[in-house]
Amino acid sequence: MIRFSVNILRGCFGGCTFCSITEHEGRIIQSRSQASILREIEEVRDRTPGFTGTVSDLGGPTANMWRLACRDRAIESACRKPSCVYPTICANLNTDHGPLIELYRAARRVSGIKRVLIASGLRYDLAVRSPDYIRELVTHHVGGYLKIAPEHTEPGPLSKMMKPGIGTYDRFKSLFDKFSKAAGKEQYLIPYFISAHPGTSDEDMLNLALWLKKNGFRPDAVQAFLPTPMAIASAMYHTGRNPLKRITRDGERVSVVRGQRQRRLHKAFLRYHDPENWPLLRAALKAMGRADLIGNGKRHLIPAFQPAGTGLSPEGRRRAGPSMAPGGTTAMRPVRPGKRLR
Ligand code: SF4
Repeated sequence: MIRFSVNILRGCFGGCTFCSITEHEGRIIQSRSQASILREIEEVRDRTPGFTGTVSDLGGPTANMWRLACRDRAIESACRKPSCVYPTICANLNTDHGPLIELYRAARRVSGIKRVLIASGLRYDLAVRSPDYIRELVTHHVGGYLKIAPEHTEPGPLSKMMKPGIGTYDRFKSLFDKFSKAAGKEQYLIPYFISAHPGTSDEDMLNLALWLKKNGFRPDAVQAFLPTPMAIASAMYHTGRNPLKRITRDGERVSVVRGQRQRRLHKAFLRYHDPENWPLLRAALKAMGRADLIGNGKRHLIPAFQPAGTGLSPEGRRRAGPSMAPGGTTAMRPVRPGKRLR
């Protein structure tokens, strides 16, 4: 996938606290020239073995920040805000997606190029400002699924992540669906979420699980927060305090999800459909006074019954024998000696 992708920019002004790209690459976007990008597409076409005409990604840290910048270079250099898009999109930010639309069109016109996909994540709060961009994207550049990262639905964790509210996701989805339908394409959004981020309560994860169920999502791969170097959320994790207090105005102390049980529980809420998680979720729902969500109806989060061979503790799984894999299937992934499972 990487061999056939082209990087169009460096940097990110999003400032998501769990990510350190802004610290590594800078808040001011470095955009490549259109001519340089088109030259690289031609080089991929001419020199990369196995290239079949599909550019797998035209992106970077954030696909739709190309050529976006503060309106004034002097203000930009003096500005010390960690994000140009949180808590709201700064009035000084130029959000014109016109040049990016033109770049996509020029890339499609390169001789020998059949498809240009956008696989990098995009900032949908910026994209909703340009319905023309979303139309161009869904009509020509989505390969059936588009990954986006709301990361959560609840205001508590979202404010600690410095991410927009879920209402913006809804606006993006309605435009995505509208333009996909107009293009005669069946396409889906794949939203990504993080569990156990600093500032996330058990109730927040429950509400997220209910949102996932209501919207028909059953996440397969999920991310559980881990503190990584240089990320602001890592400072929250280690100190239990929010270094952005002056920006978010929501108090200094941050609840931190620690310990295997609570981390497992938060992840289990994201994978509420996995029978392996049901015993843990049942116990948690009862403790939270939400036993009304256990049952076999549509309004329930998890069923009251447990399929045979699932939901066993690690000890129980050991006793059940080596052929019983998590999920109740007997399929085991073969592991060659010396090869690690990812
Ligand atoms: S003034 Fe606004 S747009 Fe300009 S750099 Fe600061 S936050 Fe970003």
